Amino acid sequence: MKIKVAKNSGFCFGVKRAVNISLETTKLKEKVVTFGPIIHNPQMVSYLKKCGVGFVNEIDDIVDETVIIRSHGITAQDYKKLLKKRVEIVDATCPIVKKAQDFAKKLTQDGFRLVILGEKNHPEVKALLSYVDDNAIVISGPEKKISLQENQKIGLIAQTTQIEEKFEQLAVRLLKSCKELYVVKTICNATFIRQAETKELAKNVDVLFVVGGKNSANTARLAEIARAENCKTYHIETAAEIEEKSLKNINYLGIAGGASTPDWIIEDVKRRIKKIKKT
Ligand code: SF4
Repeated sequence: MKIKVAKNSGFCFGVKRAVNISLETTKLKEKVVTFGPIIHNPQMVSYLKKCGVGFVNEIDDIVDETVIIRSHGITAQDYKKLLKKRVEIVDATCPIVKKAQDFAKKLTQDGFRLVILGEKNHPEVKALLSYVDDNAIVISGPEKKISLQENQKIGLIAQTTQIEEKFEQLAVRLLKSCKELYVVKTICNATFIRQAETKELAKNVDVLFVVGGKNSANTARLAEIARAENCKTYHIETAAEIEEKSLKNINYLGIAGGASTPDWIIEDVKRRIKKIKKT
């Protein structure tokens, strides 16, 4: 059996940056917490905890710790609350996520009705909404219903981990129903590259293991893309989830890691697959 790992599996620039900022901060400060998980990977969050980076879900639970803001950002309201607490803040929000927030603000200020392709409950989208006072339409796919006023000027952006094809389809659809459309492709390049590689891999393998947090939007999207290619796909967090029966009668196996998946987990997955095949 041949195993092929997608070339760009694992940490993207923004995740690497957030993890490094967290580890560096623990060297300088006594008590360090992240507000919400720094990235959407439970194993990495546990590892960081061992290194001294705790995490809290509520601002009220923060007392005198240095607070690190996660890679996908926080809402404007939460940021204000943190400032009020007078705790030290280290912002690890990915610059690409920040850029999307800036575009959301700019388009709204310029009188565009903002439409965001994304998941309403994802922290990144919640943060985007907070910067425009919730004055935007969030749509999860180009096929979903959307109510717009006639002759509206529309500004379209996306959650950074969205699928490019869906974004383009939505842009075409909106173009037909508005007077003016301003599109900013806020999908990040790391996402785009990983999605393109996964699609290609899915076309050529018998089975694909997409590795990454179950709560990771970008990893879930990779699995969605692979399934759309009719490839037998398993979204797993760790090697322990691999069942022997899933490796039967396989000639060509692919592995794709999400942008928040540490290399060591991808290596573990590879090792376990080889071990099962040997025995
Ligand atoms: S996927 Fe892109 S936007 Fe998200 S953290 Fe990574 S580099 Fe930043």
